[in-house]
Amino acid sequence: MNIIDQLIPADTAPGHRISGGGAPPVDRLNRPLRDLRLSVIDQCNFRCTYCMPRDTFGADYPFLPSSERLSFEQIVKLAKAFALLGVEKIRITGGEPLLRRGLESLVEQLAKLTTASGKPMELALTTNGSLLAAKARSLRDAGLDRVTVSLDAVDDAVFRQMSDVDMPVSRILEGIETARAVGLAPIKVNVVIERGVNESQILPLVRLFKGSGVAVRFIEYMDVGGAGGWSNTKVITARETREIIESEFPLIPIVMGQQMGTAVNYRHTDGAGEVGFIGSVSQPFCGSCSRARVSADGQFYSCLFATHGTDLRPWLTDAASAEQLALTVHSRWIQRDDRYSELRSTQRRPGPGKLYPTVRMSLVGG
Ligand code: SAM
Ligand code: SF4
Ligand code: SF4
Repeated sequence: MNIIDQLIPADTAPGHRISGGGAPPVDRLNRPLRDLRLSVIDQCNFRCTYCMPRDTFGADYPFLPSSERLSFEQIVKLAKAFALLGVEKIRITGGEPLLRRGLESLVEQLAKLTTASGKPMELALTTNGSLLAAKARSLRDAGLDRVTVSLDAVDDAVFRQMSDVDMPVSRILEGIETARAVGLAPIKVNVVIERGVNESQILPLVRLFKGSGVAVRFIEYMDVGGAGGWSNTKVITARETREIIESEFPLIPIVMGQQMGTAVNYRHTDGAGEVGFIGSVSQPFCGSCSRARVSADGQFYSCLFATHGTDLRPWLTDAASAEQLALTVHSRWIQRDDRYSELRSTQRRPGPGKLYPTVRMSLVGG
């Protein structure tokens, strides 16, 4: 019996025990805990209108002071606890994770972790790509496996409108190219489509990446915390996006009728790569949602749309072990019954035009 097994009360239901072999805990809707999104910073150098609109996230916005961010030591302990619970994949996110000073050192420590079944931990990162050209090599050397880059347009003017930053698209493309050259692959590009803003970019983005080995994934605009200007009418559904693409590029579904993870993937009929669709609003995938999220200040969130988290910091001191922390997460996970996206239309909103008050995306990570 391992330490965690000894700590679990003997009357815990068998499906909810932490097994020494690393079988993950299962929540109330029978969803195992499989991956962890770790936000390392809540700040960002972009002001994407759907995530951190400048009128809300202005110069005086109270971002976390660095003293309130988890230290690398705390993050590694946290990751160990999740590994003990059976997590096999960690995605580093933010805010913009590449703004966190010394991130390579954190990556190096996380890359040394093994999963409960003895495999190396899979380590990915989501970034806006602006600092990727400079950092891709050192991140790869530190042990990062792959990157996902967010890019909403090929056209500079549309990109500027969406990211609200004065930067050319070429800078992000340079980051993607460097990541590819150093082997941070397979690379995915995430695109958020907002009606009336960047649907003109759907075909140019597919044309640009077709045959390059980079898979483009279109994400429906979500009503997450931060997205103050969201409305249902601004959502272009995954289906609409696919139809626009199919007007020029015939696609074949990769997994017929079955959803694997969050994206529904298609391939070009000529074999020149894949396109994915993340229908978070029109085709919710709560039934297979196996993600835990931890914010930059150590709050555990069981759903992207959670209104509050569980503070893990008391277990991130020297007084508590990674095993004790794992037990805390375990007991929280087995209570989990979130399925916001499936219930979206029935959620009570605070008023006309106001969003359900969820944690902001830039704190908890996408
Ligand atoms: N800054 C990094 C980036 O942009 O890749 C990482 C953090 S960002 C919060 C993670 C992902 O969330 C990005 O792909 C972004 O496009 C997505 N995102 C943010 N707000 C969103 C929204 N309202 N709807 C859909 N996706 C959103
Ligand atoms: Fe920053 Fe990413 Fe949010 Fe854009 S989506 S504002 S890049 S955190
Ligand atoms: Fe998972 Fe919550 Fe999104 Fe549903 S709404 S897929 S439970 S994060």
